[in-house]
Amino acid sequence: MTDSVRLDVDLALLGGGGAASLVLAALDRHGVRDLRIAIVDPVRRRGQDRTWAFWGHPDTDLDPLLSASWHQVEVVTPARRRVLDLTPLRYAMLRSGPVYDRAAAAEQRLTARRIVAPAQAVTDEGDRVLVRCGDGSVVRAGWVLDSRPRPPARAGRTTWLQHFRGWWLEADRPVFDPRRAVLMDFRTPQPPRGVSFGYLLPVNDRYALVEYTEFSPGLLTDAGYDTALVGYRDLLGLDPTGLRIREVENGVIPMTDAPFPARPSSRVVRLGTAGGATRPSTGFTFSAMHRQADQIARALAAGRPPVPRPAYPARHRWMDAVALRALDSGGVGGPDFFDRLFDRNPAERVLRFLDGVTTPTEEIAIMNSTRLGPMIAATVGDAAHRARDRLRPVRPAPAIPAAVVGGPVPPRADPPA
Ligand SMILES: Cc1cc2nc3c(=O)[nH]c(=O)nc-3n(C[C@H](O)[C@H](O)[C@H](O)COP(=O)(O)OP(=O)(O)OC[C@H]3O[C@@H](n4cnc5c(N)ncnc54)[C@H](O)[C@@H]3O)c2cc1C
Repeated sequence: MTDSVRLDVDLALLGGGGAASLVLAALDRHGVRDLRIAIVDPVRRRGQDRTWAFWGHPDTDLDPLLSASWHQVEVVTPARRRVLDLTPLRYAMLRSGPVYDRAAAAEQRLTARRIVAPAQAVTDEGDRVLVRCGDGSVVRAGWVLDSRPRPPARAGRTTWLQHFRGWWLEADRPVFDPRRAVLMDFRTPQPPRGVSFGYLLPVNDRYALVEYTEFSPGLLTDAGYDTALVGYRDLLGLDPTGLRIREVENGVIPMTDAPFPARPSSRVVRLGTAGGATRPSTGFTFSAMHRQADQIARALAAGRPPVPRPAYPARHRWMDAVALRALDSGGVGGPDFFDRLFDRNPAERVLRFLDGVTTPTEEIAIMNSTRLGPMIAATVGDAAHRARDRLRPVRPAPAIPAAVVGGPVPPRADPPA
C-alpha cells in the first residue's frame, strides 16, 4: 500500500446509476454487512430522471416502489389492435426516484463511502484493483463493479439506437384507461430506415406517460421528437386543450450486436448497459440489471466473488444480431415482425424470450413465427460479415450519442412553434 491510497475497500462501484442502485438495494436486502464499499460517481443520482418499464412476475422487492402495473397490454398495428393478457406476468412502471431513494437508504445501512468524482484510470493488479478518481483520491478495491457508460469494444455489424421522447401528460378530465398500457403502437409514420412506435403508460385516468420511440441509426431533432409526439397524441385522440405536459423524458439506448465485454479483467465486472445488459433487439435493460444485482448480492452474502451470469445467453445475442440485420436491411418490417411474434406465440413466451430466459424449444417456435426468407438471408449475411470481421482490423465503435433535450417544459401539450 502506497501513501496515495486513501481508501481500501472490498467492493467499489464505479457509476451509481440504475445498475449500481439495484446492487446496493440487493446487498441490503440480502443482509450483506461488514463489506467495505465505495461508490464513485461525479453525480449523486436523485429524483425522476427516467422511467423504467419492464415485465416480470409480481410480488418482488420492487412492488412497493411501482407507480403502476398492468396485466393487460395492447399491441397496435395499422391493421389491428391486440389486447394481450400477460398473466402470470405483468408489465410494470417504476420511476427512478424511489429506486435512487432506496439505494441511498441502503448505502447508509451498508456504511458505504461515496466519492463524488469521476473514476478515471482503473488498474487490475490481479489481487486488487486500483481506481484513480478525478478528485485525486485512489480507491484500492478487492472487486470493481463498473457501470460507467462506454461505447462497445468494437463496431457492431448493425448499429442502431433506440431513441425517444416522452411526455408526462396530465388531463383535466378522465381520458386514460388505467387498466391497460399500450406496449407498442405501430400506427406512427415509419421512418425510411428503422421502426417507430408510440406507447402509453397510464398511472391513473388523468395521468400518463406518452412516448414516441424510434429504433433507427440516427437521432431526430428536438422539433422532430415534438412533431412525432404531437402526431402520436393525435392518433390517440387526445384533445390538447385539456392536457398539460408535466415532465419531458428523453433517452438514447444502444441497439447493436457490438460486444460490451462484461469481464474486462479478472476483478472487474461491468454492469448495466456498459456490461451488455441492454437487449440488442429491444433496448430493454432493466430486468437483466435487476436479475444480475440479485445474483451479485447472493454471491457476496455467500462469500463468493460478485460475478453474475451473462445478461443474455450467447444464442440470444446471435438471434438478436440476425433480427437487427433483417430489420436494418428492410427484409423484415418492424410492425410486421412484432405483429407476427405476438400473433403466433403466447404473450408470456414472447416476453420471456425478450428477457433471454426461454428454452431452446420455445426459441425455435419463436423463430418459426418470423418470415423465413428474410431471416435466412439475414443469417447468411451475418455469418459472412462475421467471417470478414475476423480478417480485418477491429473498427472502433462510435460513442453512444447523448439524448436530444429540448427547452423548458411547455405549458401546453403543443410543441413550441
Ligand atoms: C430516459 C431513459 C429511459 C429508459 N427506460 C427504460 C425502460 O423503460 N426499460 C428498460 O429496460 N430500460 C430503460 N432504459 C435503459 C436502461 O435501463 C437505463 O439506461 C439504466 O439507467 C442503465 O443503467 P446503468 O447503470 O447502465 O447506467 P446509468 O443509470 O446511466 O448509470 C451510469 C452512471 O455512471 C455515472 N458515470 C459516468 N461517468 C462516470 C465516471 N467517469 N466515473 C464514475 N461514474 C460515472 C453516471 O453519472 C451515472 O450515474 C432507459 C434509459 C433512459 C436513458
